[in-house]
Amino acid sequence: MKIVKSIREWKNAKPEKTVGFVPTMGALHRGHLSLVEEARNNNSTVVVSIFVNPTQFNDKNDFHSYPNTWEKDISMLKNAGVDYVFSPEYKELYSDEYRYQISEKKMASVLCGESRPGHFDGVLTVVMKLLNIIKPQFAYFGKKDYQQYMLIRDMVATFFIETQIVGCDIIRETDGLAMSSRNLLLSEPQRKTAPLLYKILQQTSNVNEIKKQLAVVGFKVDYVEEFWQRRFAAAFLGKVRLIDNVPLGETYDSCS
Ligand code: AMP
Repeated sequence: MKIVKSIREWKNAKPEKTVGFVPTMGALHRGHLSLVEEARNNNSTVVVSIFVNPTQFNDKNDFHSYPNTWEKDISMLKNAGVDYVFSPEYKELYSDEYRYQISEKKMASVLCGESRPGHFDGVLTVVMKLLNIIKPQFAYFGKKDYQQYMLIRDMVATFFIETQIVGCDIIRETDGLAMSSRNLLLSEPQRKTAPLLYKILQQTSNVNEIKKQLAVVGFKVDYVEEFWQRRFAAAFLGKVRLIDNVPLGETYDSCS
C-alpha cells in the first residue's frame, strides 16, 4: 500500500482500471471498512483518502477535537487490501484558500445544512476536488450521511463528472448505534445512552413524540424530520453531535 501526499505523486502512479475511491476523514471503523470492501470487490485499484476537511466544519472546536488515529487507520487499510492512501495537506487541496466553492441551493439548506451553515459547501467542494484529482470510475459513500450522499450523487450528475456514486448501508454496533468516528468522543455514560437514538427513531410514533422521548433520555435534539421517505435525526450528547436515519417503509439493498 502506497501513501501518497501530493497530487504530483498521484499523477505519477499508474493505477489499473477500474479505480474505486473511498473518501474519509480518518478515525476509521467498520463503517468505513464496509465501503472499502465494496470498492475492493469491484475494482482493480482501491484508493482511500484521509483528509480532515476544515471547510466543512462550521464549529472550530469540533474540527480541533476531531479524532486522529493515523497509525491504526493505516494498518486497517493495509489489512483491507487498499492500494493507495491519498492524504494531502490543506494547501495542496486549497491553493485558492477556498475562494472557489460548490454550493447547492435547495437540498443543502435543510436538515444538517440548516443547523451547520456552510457545511455542505465544504463537503461538495472537497469531494469535487478529490474526484477531479483521483478520477475514479466508482466512489463509495455511506448512507449514514444520507443527505451528503444524495447531494454528491446529484452534483456528479449536474457537472458531468465521470464517476459513478455508490451508496452503502449504515453499519451499526451490536447495540444499534451507527458507527461514527465521533463515537470515540463519548464518555462511558453517554456511550450507554447513544444507541437510544436509533431505537427511538425506529418507533412509529410521530416526530414530535420522538423529540420528546430523546430529550427525556438525555439528548439535546437538533432536529428530527422526515424527507425522501426517510426519518432523519441529529442530537447532542454533551458536545458530541450524533446523526442517524432510517427508511420509512422501504427496504434498501446494501449498496446501490
Ligand atoms: P467520514 O470519515 O465520517 O467523513 O466518513 C467517510 C465515509 O464513510 C462517508 O461516506 C460516510 O458516510 C461513511 N460512513 C461513516 N460511518 C458509516 C457507517 N456507520 N456506515 C456506513 N458508512 C459510514
